[in-house]
Amino acid sequence: MPPADPSASSHPTGGPAGPHVVVIGGGITGLAAAHRLLELAARDSQPVRVTLLEASGRVGGVFGTRDIAGYRVETGADSFITNKPWALDLCLRLGLESRLIPTIARYRRSLVLHNGRPEPVPEGFQLLTPVKLGPIFRSPLFTWGGKLRMAAEWFLPRRRDESDESLGSFARRRFGTEAFERIIQPMVGGIYTADPDKLSMQATMERFVAHERESGSVIRGMRKEARAGQIARDGASGARYGLFASLTTGMQELIDALAGRIQAAATLCLSTRVTSLARRTDQPGWRLTTTGPEGVPSELTCDAVVVALPTHAASPLLRDVAPNLAQRLGSIEYASTAIVVSGHKLSDVTHPLDAFGLVIPRIERRRILAVSFTSRKFPGRAPEGCVQLRTFVGGAMQPELLDQSDEAIQSLVREELGEILGVRGTPDFAVVARWNRSMPQYHVGHVRNIAQLESEARELPRLALAGNAYHGVGLPDAIHSGEQAAQRISAELA
Ligand SMILES: Cc1cc2nc3c(=O)[nH]c(=O)nc-3n(C[C@H](O)[C@H](O)[C@H](O)COP(=O)(O)OP(=O)(O)OC[C@H]3O[C@@H](n4cnc5c(N)ncnc54)[C@H](O)[C@@H]3O)c2cc1C
Repeated sequence: MPPADPSASSHPTGGPAGPHVVVIGGGITGLAAAHRLLELAARDSQPVRVTLLEASGRVGGVFGTRDIAGYRVETGADSFITNKPWALDLCLRLGLESRLIPTIARYRRSLVLHNGRPEPVPEGFQLLTPVKLGPIFRSPLFTWGGKLRMAAEWFLPRRRDESDESLGSFARRRFGTEAFERIIQPMVGGIYTADPDKLSMQATMERFVAHERESGSVIRGMRKEARAGQIARDGASGARYGLFASLTTGMQELIDALAGRIQAAATLCLSTRVTSLARRTDQPGWRLTTTGPEGVPSELTCDAVVVALPTHAASPLLRDVAPNLAQRLGSIEYASTAIVVSGHKLSDVTHPLDAFGLVIPRIERRRILAVSFTSRKFPGRAPEGCVQLRTFVGGAMQPELLDQSDEAIQSLVREELGEILGVRGTPDFAVVARWNRSMPQYHVGHVRNIAQLESEARELPRLALAGNAYHGVGLPDAIHSGEQAAQRISAELA
């Protein structure tokens, strides 16, 4: 995909130009924003000129599908949840319906490490709630004291204080320390790569807080929800794909489809880093300074801008125009992680790997956070008789492990996989993907902080912020955020 000239004044389709909107950042958020701008323009017959500027040499951000030694490898995001509709809807609008694949039904379960051995997560355990008590009582994960403490949640009084609370505090208070340490911390930590004693319940798991508030017990609330959900699920569009979905040849299909649509009707500039933003003085709109492919600085003016960047990248751009907002954006913490992706002969692995993956409680004192058994989740990810593993290292709780070289990280992963799953021999391949400052941390107070931040951002006309740092960290949330930003800008320009 060659870089294009953002200053070109004619519309690539040759149609009337309309207002010029620049989208900064070519990750999924920026791509979704640019695509939505074009969709809205077509729907309302209101022409718009869209330019997308991406600092690196490729679009996709935290995505990376590669073919290595006969394996289909995802070094970044590998699937999306379907009970939030935005990723699925986008795939359908892009004509990818026949490319969507559900997870493999026979392996739909997770394992958790317990005293060095992988054990099944008890059936009906949903993130932090034992919806079914029978499997909890039969599970070897907990002592009898721990099991009774969990069941007692049903009868505990509800919290009166409505202020935000950390996951650690909520989970220990409702279900006891044992449940928190042995299952809740690794299950939730795996999603947010976060410190549970800082992670905001309000921002990440408001639904569970609401159950306590409204039903007096999280278990009771979840059971009610499960009964109602069964009825809703029967008619829901995501239901046929299961909870998670991907695309036949990997997530890159989504990026390619989006980039194709955008390139046909807009300008996409790679290797173009935006270095500053200023208000135009001649008319409403923005003036951007960029550094191009050869490091050549240039200027670009536009009528509106979508900033689809991690907040640590957005902050310096806004330092001069909105110092308070820039400071607030810069103060959101991010965690880093590395994924070691490796391919193995099944005959080299003692464990049957009869699940989607394994999460590892902090109390087990291991050097890895989780292992995803990628080829057990989706078909076509490994050759016959082989398995693809994605092992997560680092996160907010073990950042020091990422100071090591790639070779040292690979070697520690090999040792851990050997001890925990009985993985032996030389892998068919192994690669390390480092994602530095890629996971925004939703700390206690996040919802209030973002409300304040967004109210400050509204003071800047014709500018919209989007990304995974505001209202959800997953792919569907990032897409939704980009599309909402496009909608706001379209409405403002109209
Ligand atoms: C390792 C990992 C695995 C994940 N797996 C999943 C998963 O399986 N399912 C799921 O739902 N979610 C997953 N997520 C979360 C999801 O991938 C992210 O929420 C989403 O991809 C974020 O997209 P984004 O566009 O907001 O940011 P990014 O992907 O970070 O994109 C930002 C883009 O902006 C560019 N950029 C930065 N600065 C500038 C600048 N000054 N000028 C121009 N361009 C700039 C960057 O080069 C980058 O391309 C995962 C996240 C990580 C880190």
